[in-house]
Amino acid sequence: MEGTPLHEAAPTERMESGMNVILLGPPGVGKGTQGVLLAEAKSWKHIATGDILRANRREGTPLGQEAQKYMDAGELVPDELIVAMVKETLAAMPGDQGVVFDGFPRTVPQAEALDLALEQLGRRVDRVVVLEADDDVLVKRIAGRRSCPDCGSVFNVYANAPKQEGVCDKCAAALVHRPDDNPETVQNRLDVYKAQTEPLIQFYQDRAGVMAKIPGEGGVDEIQQGILAAL
Ligand code: AMP
Repeated sequence: MEGTPLHEAAPTERMESGMNVILLGPPGVGKGTQGVLLAEAKSWKHIATGDILRANRREGTPLGQEAQKYMDAGELVPDELIVAMVKETLAAMPGDQGVVFDGFPRTVPQAEALDLALEQLGRRVDRVVVLEADDDVLVKRIAGRRSCPDCGSVFNVYANAPKQEGVCDKCAAALVHRPDDNPETVQNRLDVYKAQTEPLIQFYQDRAGVMAKIPGEGGVDEIQQGILAAL
């Protein structure tokens, strides 16, 4: 994983690369739902680190076992594990494949590592879309969130209900309330977001034309239109 060869990019390759878009925002703001929609609309790859970690947990991989204690406590998984995981995913993609990053980066060291990894692949962060919502909205959203343990689809009993209650629209598996969506862990995840992830807004703020802030409190379609317009 660490030794994945990365090629040096020629300037022309940079021009031809697909867009690299980061969805940034607190837990429950809708990054997952919007990330899936955006990736579908643009035929981009959706790289959701939380989904990759949950898949590793289901499969019982060493990474999944290592990540478990952090995820269950609402803490961040160590940067080096996350960065290696994302680099491996990026290196396996065609050079012109657009990407939506969802839930990554979550710390300044992750953002610095992403810059470096993208540069080595002739890519760069093209847009950072920040979704914003008040804590009370986030807490309610997370309480209503239902996730598919098999395909990772996300629904919400209040705002984006599955066609049949408790059943995934895409793959018909029984939906679950994520264990880390319980109220105590949610509060810690919100605190961790403010302490470790919110500084990324400052990190990207100074890059001309990169950052767009979108209200994350409307309906799913309305927010998606806002994101598309921001690209
Ligand atoms: P999410 O599905 O994005 O809400 O992520 C669920 C959990 O996975 C988080 O609370 C963290 O424990 C872990 N996780 C996901 N992405 C990252 C990341 N980029 N850095 C560190 N931990 C992460």
